[in-house]
Amino acid sequence: MPKDKLIDCPRCGSDACYETQEQYNLINRICYGCGFMTHNYMNKDSTFLQEQLEVLPELYQDLTFIDDNGYHWIPSTVNLPDKGMVYINGTSIEKWEWTAVPVTKINESERERFPVKGKPKEYHTYKMDQSLAKTFKERDYMEALDYIGVFNIKK
Ligand SMILES: [Zn+2]
Repeated sequence: MPKDKLIDCPRCGSDACYETQEQYNLINRICYGCGFMTHNYMNKDSTFLQEQLEVLPELYQDLTFIDDNGYHWIPSTVNLPDKGMVYINGTSIEKWEWTAVPVTKINESERERFPVKGKPKEYHTYKMDQSLAKTFKERDYMEALDYIGVFNIKK
C-alpha cells in the first residue's frame, strides 16, 4: 500500500512536502511549496544519480539542491496529457520561472493531425496550447499547478 506523509522541505522549509512510499522501496519526495522533488535513488552514492544529472538541462543542473543527507532535489516537471504541463524556464539560477501550459480540446476538423501513436484511427482529445501559457514565480508553484487544473477532479 502506498503511504503518504507530510515532511518539512529541506530546501524551502515549507511543510507541504509529500513523501510517498512507492514500489521497490522507492520513496518519492515532492514539495508543493517550491516545486522541487527527489527520491531515494537521487542520493550522492547512487550511479543512477550521476547518469540522471548528466542528461538534465543545464538550468536544472545549476538549480540542483543537495540536502544534509545527500539527496539531490531538482525542479519537477509535470506532463499530464489531459491537463497540461508545468516546467521551469529561464536563463540562470537568479532568473527563472515556472511555465504552465494548459490543454485545449482538439477540434473535430483538426483531429487527424493528432493521432495516438501505435493506434490506427485513434486520436487525442486534448493538445497543449502554448497560446495559453502563463509564467509563475518560483514560490507560486501551486498556482501554476492550479492553472492547468491538476487539483480538479473533473475538467
Ligand atoms: Zn520546498
